[in-house]
Amino acid sequence: MDLNEDVKYIKGVGPNRVKLLNKIGIFTLKDLITYYPRGYEDRSKPKNICECTNGEIALIEAIAVSRFMDSRISKGRTMQKLVVRDETGQATITWFNQSYLKSKFQVSKKYRFYGKIEYQYGKISMNSPVFDEIQNTNNTGKIIPIYPLTFSLTQNVLRKIIENGLEKIKEQGGLKETLPEYILNEYKLQNIQEANYNIHFPKEYEDFKKARRRLVFEELLSTQLALLQLKNNNLTDKKGIVFDKNVNMSDVINTLPFNLTKAQLKVLQEIDNNMESEKSMNRLLQGDVGSGKTIVAMISAYKAVKSGYQVAILAPTAILATQHLNNFKNILEKFDIKCELLISGITKKNKEDILERLKHGDIDILIGTHAMLEENVEFKNLGLVITDEQHRFGVKQRTKMVEKGQNPDVLVMSATPIPRTLALILYGDLDISIIDELPPNRKKIETYAVTKRMEERVNNFIKKQVNEGRQCYIVCPLVEESEDEESDLKAVLTLYETCKNDTFKEYRVEYIHGKMRPKEKDEIMNRFKNGEIDILISTTVIEVGVDVPNASIMVIEDAQRFGLAALHQLRGRVGRGEYKSYCVLKFNGNGQNTKERMKVMCETNDGFVISQKDLELRGSGDFFGTMQHGIPDFKIANLFTDIDILKLAQEAAIKIVDKDNKLEKEENKLLKELVKDKFTDRLEI
Ligand code: ADP
Ligand code: MG
Repeated sequence: MDLNEDVKYIKGVGPNRVKLLNKIGIFTLKDLITYYPRGYEDRSKPKNICECTNGEIALIEAIAVSRFMDSRISKGRTMQKLVVRDETGQATITWFNQSYLKSKFQVSKKYRFYGKIEYQYGKISMNSPVFDEIQNTNNTGKIIPIYPLTFSLTQNVLRKIIENGLEKIKEQGGLKETLPEYILNEYKLQNIQEANYNIHFPKEYEDFKKARRRLVFEELLSTQLALLQLKNNNLTDKKGIVFDKNVNMSDVINTLPFNLTKAQLKVLQEIDNNMESEKSMNRLLQGDVGSGKTIVAMISAYKAVKSGYQVAILAPTAILATQHLNNFKNILEKFDIKCELLISGITKKNKEDILERLKHGDIDILIGTHAMLEENVEFKNLGLVITDEQHRFGVKQRTKMVEKGQNPDVLVMSATPIPRTLALILYGDLDISIIDELPPNRKKIETYAVTKRMEERVNNFIKKQVNEGRQCYIVCPLVEESEDEESDLKAVLTLYETCKNDTFKEYRVEYIHGKMRPKEKDEIMNRFKNGEIDILISTTVIEVGVDVPNASIMVIEDAQRFGLAALHQLRGRVGRGEYKSYCVLKFNGNGQNTKERMKVMCETNDGFVISQKDLELRGSGDFFGTMQHGIPDFKIANLFTDIDILKLAQEAAIKIVDKDNKLEKEENKLLKELVKDKFTDRLEI
């Protein structure tokens, strides 16, 4: 059976239809049968005429009780009528300009009609329904697939062609199975022949569900297998570090000025178990802004250090690294743990000193930026690598860090919560821990989306807040991606000038941007932290992790230019203290999508919900695009609704690869082909 056969050889496909099919991406028999329906209409369950209601789409089974009446209505237009009846009532079927239907109907014969019901003045009628004689099931009496079609081809035509295609395949002995039998059995999956038939022409809803389950499973399994291979390319069978069971995380926990949330404790338990087992840890820690990931990292680092290992904490910006250092020192110094900072801004001498001590094991925890990835940064005994804000680092950078140790455990923290489904796909080989609860007493950040007209009011509101002792961030328009940091800078400076000399001239205004030297940035941030600056104008450098509890208002200019995840991150800079906090999204433009996005931000503070919406509004293609992962579009799997199947497929993939890393065993031959088929351009197997 050659699935690559040109569609033109299928019954019912002439030269014209070939063109139309090509237009919707159908060139081969395989394209045809994998052109899946976007939905179904159940035209199999008849309704009693007397129960039909106005406006509903219904199927009725009824006997013609009148002859087919054809009458002229106006200017050459004609109208056709047929009166029909079932045991419960009578209905009039009407058509326009379809005199030719006359030959299809006979008095006293029974038919099925499927169409929209009109109920007026006590009479039921149906306009231009599809119909069959009762013994036929061409258009009714079954579940009908509805295909995504935009032009030219009609549902009926495509349906027929697909039916012919499937028929042809069946005649030639059916489809070749693409999944190994042991997988079919283990996961109770329909075979490929049935699945492909039932996805188009299910007899019952259940058939369709089973077919879909199999096809989705296959699609996700092949993706997962491909991802695992991509990521495990350099994975060896090396055992992970077994950290000391006698080091108790609770030693640190008991010294904290607050109680950890249930979610934090749960996540720590997962990490603890993982660290103590000989399975090396590869874990993604997800949690919303402010959910308290840092403390989790700190406690994990404690465990590693007290087990005799060094820890590396990789942060995306110098500001954040510095902040982490201070936090770590605060909590861990009393346990005699030595923390140091390595960022590109430090003096040569300082750096040399750090590198030396690091190599000799005199530094327990090294916190820093990309500067830590450099070759001359050598650890004595690196046992745990933690990367903060994972989305800023690629897999490559993570790997580079990991290679500085002997198969160290890895904890990846992400402050851009993404739906679990996506996390599973993007980080196929990572275990996932989720902090799904915020520390108590966090107040919702009141969010408003405003246009230019409201500027005056917004400015007055800022003044009012500052007069009450609070501080304010104003984040500048994000400049088009094609442009460089220079223009970012210019935007900040322009706004700064206006604010300082005009709008907020009675206040202490400062600015910060990505191009400043780390020292300058730190200085500004420190002054802001100490309350010496009222209003801080900034690019998105403050996006990540900065903690200033007294800041209560975040204004974002040109908010429509930011992704929802970024807006959420920015908003998370306020509401970190005891004060009621606000976020003002200034936006331009009238697009439906913009409005929708602003609405989402105003309605929810939940990062998981926001990223889900972001995904919905942008489509998964864009979403993955910005994540810089070459994930293909899915033909049938739906990332919102197929989470259960995804989990199953992931489990299966891990199991398979565990036993047969390169898919070389005979039993996995089919899987290897499947993966190759889908990812030839990305994988070298
Ligand atoms: P994020 O998850 O965004 O990195 P952080 O770790 O920066 O969040 O935590 C935000 C703030 O909440 C910090 O000031 C931290 O000390 C505090 N915090 C963390 N956990 C708790 C808790 N269980 N109860 C109260 N405050 C907490
Ligand atoms: Mg953080």
